[in-house]
Amino acid sequence: MNKPTYRRNRVLVTGGAGFLGSHLIDRLLERGDEVLCVDNLFTGDKSNIDHLAGNPRFEFMRHDVCLPLFVEVDAIYNLACPASPIHYQHDPVQTTKTSVHGAINMLGLAKRLKVPIFQASTSEVYGDPSVHPQPESYWGNVNPIGIRSCYDEGKRCAETLFFDYHRQHDLSIKVARIFNTYGPRMNAADGRVVSNFVVQALHGEDITIYGDGSQTRSFCYVDDLIEGFLRLMDIGPEVTGPINIGNPNEFTIRELAEQVLAKIGGKSKLIEEPLPQDDPMQRKPDITKAQDVLGWEPKVQLDEGLDRTIAYFRKVVAG
Ligand code: NAD
Ligand code: UDP
Ligand code: UDP
Repeated sequence: MNKPTYRRNRVLVTGGAGFLGSHLIDRLLERGDEVLCVDNLFTGDKSNIDHLAGNPRFEFMRHDVCLPLFVEVDAIYNLACPASPIHYQHDPVQTTKTSVHGAINMLGLAKRLKVPIFQASTSEVYGDPSVHPQPESYWGNVNPIGIRSCYDEGKRCAETLFFDYHRQHDLSIKVARIFNTYGPRMNAADGRVVSNFVVQALHGEDITIYGDGSQTRSFCYVDDLIEGFLRLMDIGPEVTGPINIGNPNEFTIRELAEQVLAKIGGKSKLIEEPLPQDDPMQRKPDITKAQDVLGWEPKVQLDEGLDRTIAYFRKVVAG
């Protein structure tokens, strides 16, 4: 395993007011970095970064990454993009623009400053995969014209741009393919499965399983994911990725619902609703590369991660 060889000081995090971005910023500030958070607050929320107000090493800028950005930083984490299906399908054209124009602008910024840049890519680049689990070498099975395409193809094009800037302009790039992640500060209203099930159970409402619940996902706890981001960015520039970061423990959606209900109790029933179009049937990362190259693997398993997430949503629901 390679040892981390460099550390940065003033760090730009786009999408920093969102779920993952706000956790990343906490970790960067904890280790002494300065952070500039750039976010247009489309899906993010100031409440995710309220606790940082008054920290002299933290700054917030409301800005859309589709527009050029001229700032001076030592490293860039590009996370800006709506991430859940209901949000990214709300304005699909804007979603593609955010991934593509956002990547171009942030890559242009990184090129001018000659600083490393990290891209929050996604397991969605594998589409509805025909190879299982998914290694980074798998090229994916993506519908280019479906309702998920704005997100999937936008992220695929962003990866293309990252690798072309790397080859053409010698930019140091870091591409992480993130698998389903959950934890405190997930948006309760963004329709993602963990937040939906937990909030439904806490309200005593029925738990909505789409389809028959036999589709699978592998859920990574947010703290583990952020540790993977930092390791990828801190390791030498020869490591570009793409690299899968996720938890390989795979569950069916029905198993997840049962586990949430067993933990929260109450009168909720499991009900079935139609499966959304192009919903992938299975997803599980092959994390051999992250283990070998970054010495990274997830530590928090679903049982413990769900307890922490439920504790967070209990406070949210209580107001
Ligand atoms: P999120 O919606 O909580 O955060 C995204 C942030 O980006 C929000 O704060 C939003 O306001 C901001 N944003 C959106 N469009 C923008 C724009 N044009 N300009 C500036 N800011 C903009 O989602 P998240 O779960 O924190 O996801 C963060 C990143 O990780 C995204 O790029 C997402 O695609 C990727 N990702 C997340 C997951 C996951 O399971 N959470 C999985 C794969 C990939
Ligand atoms: N860009 C930016 N900040 C910078 C430098 C560039 O936002 O500090 C944007 C710029 O507006 C451009 C994009 O990044 O549209 C790509 O920049 P690049 O230098 O690669 O391309 P060019 O400017 O030659 O089109
Ligand atoms: N899902 C579900 N009930 C819900 C929300 C989601 O059964 O209330 C399913 C969804 O159809 C998908 C899986 O859970 O099969 C994960 O959905 P999510 O939107 O969280 O993530 P993604 O589909 O992007 O992996």
